[in-house]
Amino acid sequence: MQLNDAFIRDIKTILKPEQFFIDEPMYKHTTFKIGGPADYLIFPSSAEEVVDVFGLVEKYSIPLTVLGNGSNVLVLDGGIRGVVVKFNSFLSAMRQAGNSIFTGAGAMLRDVSRYAAACGLTGLEFAVGIPGSIGGAVFMNAGAYDGEMKSVVHSVRAVALDGTVVCYTAQEIGFGYRHSVFQENGQAICEVEVQLEPGEPAAIEEKMAGLTKRREKKQPLEMPSAGSTFKRPTGYFAGTLIESTGLKGFCVGGAQISSKHAGFVVNTGGATAADVLGLIKEVQRRVYEKNGVKLFPEVRILGDE
Ligand SMILES: Cc1cc2nc3c(=O)[nH]c(=O)nc-3n(C[C@H](O)[C@H](O)[C@H](O)COP(=O)(O)OP(=O)(O)OC[C@H]3O[C@@H](n4cnc5c(N)ncnc54)[C@H](O)[C@@H]3O)c2cc1C
Repeated sequence: MQLNDAFIRDIKTILKPEQFFIDEPMYKHTTFKIGGPADYLIFPSSAEEVVDVFGLVEKYSIPLTVLGNGSNVLVLDGGIRGVVVKFNSFLSAMRQAGNSIFTGAGAMLRDVSRYAAACGLTGLEFAVGIPGSIGGAVFMNAGAYDGEMKSVVHSVRAVALDGTVVCYTAQEIGFGYRHSVFQENGQAICEVEVQLEPGEPAAIEEKMAGLTKRREKKQPLEMPSAGSTFKRPTGYFAGTLIESTGLKGFCVGGAQISSKHAGFVVNTGGATAADVLGLIKEVQRRVYEKNGVKLFPEVRILGDE
């Protein structure tokens, strides 16, 4: 890796030492516990800092990747060239205003759901068990059980690559199944407003507890993964299709089709991204042979092989 001394000098004038890392292994920053090093890893603490960082990225023509909690990504073994801007607790403040909650993009969905419950606001219970940041959840239009982000997001503030701050209404976000406009425009989501309904805190807590139990029973939460590996093909469930091919428990290296839920690939310890890719290809081949259905990854694949 070739370091850019001028970029490092400039970025250090903007960020504190705990916000900037060089040659940082990404397995430490993904729920799969897989991934080679990022050249530069940055944790911004405000939208203004994101604007400044993007300015330097443009000035030095450095490639850019934006990440949330790393719970829906497979970072390849060669790592990520250039700058990774990762949203975490440094940009996670939450505040209530009437039926709305405004949060920094790095706030964990779990925490926003609990905050909503404490505020007596209902509508975000579905999200309590999704282990992502709210920015990543908007990007993916994450959903579970009876809900999805599309039904609660009211507005978003994002930063474009040229440093412009752009505000979106819900309609402008182009939500679809696991889709938002941010998948095309590369902007960084910095602040999210969710709009909810008044509710009874005890009933909200009860619903969240029920959904958490259902998740714990069905999903291999005790093992590193990136959740559902494949998108749901129309008319089918990926997990059921995979199970029908007899692949439950099947391994490539350290990567395994979970024996608890065939829709999940889990890291049994020391899995490489190459193992996961090999397993994905084998699943796609066998499911297509047996059922004539093409599976496409929901997990987003980043970096170099
Ligand atoms: C055990 C487990 C269970 C899961 N269950 C569910 C579920 O029920 N439903 C569901 O929908 N998903 C589920 N997921 C997947 C994942 O948690 C969601 O997709 C989540 O929304 C991803 O958020 P993240 O912050 O981790 O995003 P990341 O994985 O960090 O990033 C995902 C994508 O979003 C982009 N991105 C992230 N943050 C931003 C930002 N601030 N601005 C612009 N782009 C950004 C990244 O570039 C990347 O392409 C599960 C995952 C695990 C590990």
